[in-house]
This record gives sequence, C-alpha cells and structure tokens, in this order.
Amino acid sequence: MTDSSEIAECLARVRAAVATAARDAGRDPAEITLIGVSKRQPLAAIEAAFEAGLRDIGENHADELLEKAAAFAPDGLRYHFIGRLSSRRARKVARQAMLIHTLDSLRLARKLSLIAQEEGREVRALVQVNQGGEATKGGVAPAAAAALVHDTAALPGLCVIGLMSIPPFDDRPRDWFRYLRELRDAAAAETGIALPELSMGMSHDFAEAIAEGATLVRVGTAIFGARD
Ligand SMILES: *Cc1c(COP(=O)(O)O)cnc(C)c1O
Repeated sequence: MTDSSEIAECLARVRAAVATAARDAGRDPAEITLIGVSKRQPLAAIEAAFEAGLRDIGENHADELLEKAAAFAPDGLRYHFIGRLSSRRARKVARQAMLIHTLDSLRLARKLSLIAQEEGREVRALVQVNQGGEATKGGVAPAAAAALVHDTAALPGLCVIGLMSIPPFDDRPRDWFRYLRELRDAAAAETGIALPELSMGMSHDFAEAIAEGATLVRVGTAIFGARD
C-alpha cells in the first residue's frame, strides 16, 4: 500500500486508538510514542506518513534502514532500529538510529560503547528480552536482563533506557506485557538504573501493551498495510 491518503487515514485511526487505550489506562497519550514500522515498504510510504505527521520510523534490517535514512531524513524524523544488529553494521546503525531497541549481548554493548566514544556521541539502547525463549527471535532470557542492564552501566557512551520484547503470538498478549513491565521494575530496583522506556505492542496488540505501560509501540501493518 503506497496510497498516501490511505496511509494518512490508517495513521489517524491508529493514533486515535493509541489515545483511547492511554486514556482507558488512566495515562496521558503524550507518554506514548507511536513508531511506524516501515520494513519492506517503499520510501514513498515513509514520506506519506511523515507528511501526515508521523515522526518515528522503525526498521528491522540494517541495510534497509541505512538506505532509507540516506534517502529521506527531514528535520524531526527519527529512525529506530528494531532488528538483529550485527557488529559489522553497528557503527552505521548507531549513527542513524535515535534508539536501538535490540541490545541483547554484552559483546554488542561493548562494541556500541566503543563506537559511541569514537564517534563522540551517546548511543541509546533498550535491552531486548526473549520472553518466550523462541529461537527465531533475538533477546536475552528474562532472568539475564537485569545483569545485562547492570553490566552496561559501566560502559561509557552507551545508555540503556529500558526493555523491549516481541512476545510469543498467542491469546494472552496482556500477560506477556505485564511480565515485561514487572521485569523492568525488578531490573530497575536491582540495578538502581532508571529504565523508563518499554517498547512493546504491535498492530494487533498495541492497546493491551499500552494498558500495561508501553511507552513505545511498534506498529507496521495497521499503518502501512500488508508488506510485500
Ligand atoms: C515488523 C515488526 C513490527 C510491526 O509488526 P506489525 O504486526 O506489522 O505491526 C514490530 N516490531 C518488530 C520488531 C517488527 O519486526
């Protein structure tokens, strides 16, 4: 789907649903950042969404992120990296992405810290948690999340500000989101590091994620339509 009026309409619907979910949960809708996930969508789709007011874009392949960010980077547009990050692509992604949602090893954390120091910039990241222990998904085991947060605190230039998860797709998304929030609360208490951000919720379950405290929702098909 690249029709720009259709994207604008879908975006308006998703925004309204985000606001409703926030109010239902007694939250201020302004606490929630809507990230439009444009993977495998043409650049024109990002342009249309930006035109319609979307300011946060998520991509899960490094090369695709770099290509799109090189071609379209108007003032105010923020790219988020939400896929597996290889150390080969880490430097370029760290330059383009305002937030890396998928930190899942101390090795990658050390690499990002080194890059941050060399580039003279702060790199911000979320620790990705693999809640279902699924081999197809990245992330650390829930029991290892606090330790990774703790270990990154000693690394200059790298700032871990929360947790991210893509939970198993089943009929109880809200339970998974609640577990992630509780894990965040426990990790913050254990490490003394504020972890204000929770990246969770996609097209089919962002309302449940907002009910459980999501601050970043990653919505693809509900805004951009089916992917190629
Ligand atoms: C593709 C993707 C999304 C968006 O999924 P939709 O179901 O299209 O909303 C969110 N998060 C990640 C990490 C993704 O890869």
